[in-house]
Amino acid sequence: MTELEKLRADCLGCERCQLCETRTNVVFGVGPEDARVMFIGEGPGENEDLQGEPFVGRAGKLLDDMLELIGLDRTKVYIANMVKCRPPKNRDPLPGEQAACAPWLERQLELIDPAIIVCLGRIAAMRFIKPDFKITREHGQWFELDGRRVMALYHPAALLRDPRRRPETFDDLKRLQAAIEQL
Ligand code: SF4
Repeated sequence: MTELEKLRADCLGCERCQLCETRTNVVFGVGPEDARVMFIGEGPGENEDLQGEPFVGRAGKLLDDMLELIGLDRTKVYIANMVKCRPPKNRDPLPGEQAACAPWLERQLELIDPAIIVCLGRIAAMRFIKPDFKITREHGQWFELDGRRVMALYHPAALLRDPRRRPETFDDLKRLQAAIEQL
C-alpha cells in the first residue's frame, strides 16, 4: 500500500468533525499519485456524497469538458476538495469543519506534490491564494505558493449558473495549458 492509499484508508473512517454523522461517503479525491496538476474544490455535493467521487453530476461533466479542451482527463490530474464530507443541504463548511479537515488535504498535497494547483472557485482560492481573493478580477492569474504555481478558475457550478463566464474560462484554460507544457 502506498502512503497515499494509507492516507485514503484512514480518511475514509474519519470522525474529526460533525460532518461524519450526515455523510454517505467520504470523498477523498481521485487521480494519479504522481499528478503534476491538482484541482481543488470546496466540498462534495449530493452526487459526490452518494458516489464517493469529487465533481460528478452536471458540474463534474462540465469540469471533464474543460479538461478535455486542453487535452487532459481524470487519468492525468488529481481532483480533490478542501472538505471531504458533504455539509448538509450543501451549506458552506463551517470554519471549524474546514480546520478539522485541512490536515487531510495538506498531507495529500505533500504526497502528490503537484507543480500546479488549480483552485475551483473562490473558496479554495481564498485558502490557497489569499484571503481577500476576488474571483471576478483575479481568475486565471498566476500566483505562487511554496514553489508551486497556483491559479483559480470559476467553479464549474458557477459556470453552469452563468454561461457568460465561459469565454473567460476558456482563456484561463489556455493559460493553464501553456504552463503545463512548460513543466
Ligand atoms: S469533513 Fe473532513 S474532518 Fe470532517 S469527518 Fe469528514 S473527513 Fe473528517
